Amino acid sequence: MHACVIGCGVIGLSCAIQLQKYGFKVTILTRTTPLDAHLDPHYTSDKAGAHWFSFASDVEVQKQAFDEISFQALSGLAVLEPDCGISTVKGHALFEKKQTQSSHDAAVRRAQSLPWWSVIVPRFHVWSGEELHAHARKTGVEYERAFSYETAMIHAPHYLEWLYKKFLENGGVVTKRQLQHISEAWSILSPSPPIIINATGLGSFQLGGVHDHHMQPDRGQTLLVRAPLIRDIWRVPGEPPCYVLPRGDGTVVLGGTHQRGDGSTSHDASVARDILARCARAVPVLRNPANFEIIGHGVGLRPARRIRTGIGEEHQRVEVDEEWSVGLGPIDAAPNNYSSSSLPSSHTNTAAHPLSSTEHSHHPSPSSAASSSSSTPNMILPSTSTSTSTSTSTSTRLVIHAFGHGGEGFQSSWGTAVWVMTLAAKRAPHLFQATSTPQPFHLCYSQLRTGVMQRLEMGQKSTAECKATRNDDVTAASKLSIASKL
Ligand SMILES: Cc1cc2nc3c(=O)[nH]c(=O)nc-3n(C[C@H](O)[C@H](O)[C@H](O)COP(=O)(O)OP(=O)(O)OC[C@H]3O[C@@H](n4cnc5c(N)ncnc54)[C@H](O)[C@@H]3O)c2cc1C
Repeated sequence: MHACVIGCGVIGLSCAIQLQKYGFKVTILTRTTPLDAHLDPHYTSDKAGAHWFSFASDVEVQKQAFDEISFQALSGLAVLEPDCGISTVKGHALFEKKQTQSSHDAAVRRAQSLPWWSVIVPRFHVWSGEELHAHARKTGVEYERAFSYETAMIHAPHYLEWLYKKFLENGGVVTKRQLQHISEAWSILSPSPPIIINATGLGSFQLGGVHDHHMQPDRGQTLLVRAPLIRDIWRVPGEPPCYVLPRGDGTVVLGGTHQRGDGSTSHDASVARDILARCARAVPVLRNPANFEIIGHGVGLRPARRIRTGIGEEHQRVEVDEEWSVGLGPIDAAPNNYSSSSLPSSHTNTAAHPLSSTEHSHHPSPSSAASSSSSTPNMILPSTSTSTSTSTSTSTRLVIHAFGHGGEGFQSSWGTAVWVMTLAAKRAPHLFQATSTPQPFHLCYSQLRTGVMQRLEMGQKSTAECKATRNDDVTAASKLSIASKL
């Protein structure tokens, strides 16, 4: 059975490898791959820090589930696959007095209490008053509170190349192509794939048939230094955020900025100086120029999807596209509790939008595609038309979106991919029966000790209940068993 993934960032690759796991022959259609990512300023993944530090709040159960599965998977890969570019690193989060009193930054507010993930990461430890004083004496900076933990540190370019290689080794095919419209995925591939995953990140703003105007670029500027003396991760949450991320090869990413709605990809020298000063304040090794060498500057655009609701502001879109899909099982059978369709619609002024271009308005939306398809000869009509059938799948076409991961794409990547498979297997189970793997979607998460996917499917459980079911004992064995099934 064939499947197509549009996009070759961390989300597209993770979804593609999951599909392969279940016997699908996968083609990735993409403008850019990890091999030429450095030439594409709008490809985000290779510009990331990147590490696991969940931003999910206590009530964002879906994000927690995505992050928790991903944490287990990434930590397991660090052990099982020494060449994959992931290492297990000690991290420290420091909270400044002035910030905790005045900042509106969500991360700081959340840190007033223990983060939800304090029970899933190994060696989580809240600093005592004595430790805070000792640190202040050593660094000259007083923090109100701090905690340490162990987490997964990802050398982003290296990990992406590893994923890419794994995908090709599994028989995957990559076709370099910039799509103007999502329907090209089933009109240009032969045989036409019954499953299409849209993992175009920021591209989902302009991609015809999707045009998600909740998408915004959140600019992040970084410095890359060689500083082998730095072994631990240091974070000072706030606005702008400060982070020091050692990648395991002597290089360290220093950040950063989080400039909402800013799509500029050029590097700003004064911002770089400010980042270095903030990082040196937190990590004294950086106060001595003899201890490091600047080897590069980076700017990346986080693919943020911003909608204000009662349970947060940023919402990934990981759901079935009901309009473009054809011949699925009943919608009630789908675990779509977190469908963004229940969220308020956007009134974005696209003309002023940082991702706007004249291009996107030339393509039809699902609702208008039927009437405008004459101007776009390759266009396949939306699911309301019976003429959507294709050669391999006369009755089924399943389109699933997986984009809008903001600053969290790595730390939620495997959870996203598992959820995509869950949606696929629930809505089109017959596609899985045709593959060589009889049990379609349970393998990765069934052994999770927390039952997070059950929480996802039930959705109604309160945070307190979820916490009560969480097992504090994270064993190396559970990580390994999850990672070995990716
Ligand atoms: C400075 C910085 C630091 C970060 N730190 C972290 C961190 O510590 N931890 C973390 O988890 N995350 C971090 N992130 C966020 C993370 O990088 C993103 O969430 C993630 O990379 C998004 O991946 P993606 O696959 O959705 O998008 P992308 O990597 O942008 O991939 C999108 C793909 O779609 C393709 N595409 C787009 N449009 C089309 C089209 N029309 N036709 C064909 N192909 C198309 C592109 O070529 C690309 O291959 C950071 C980001 C930045 C910028």
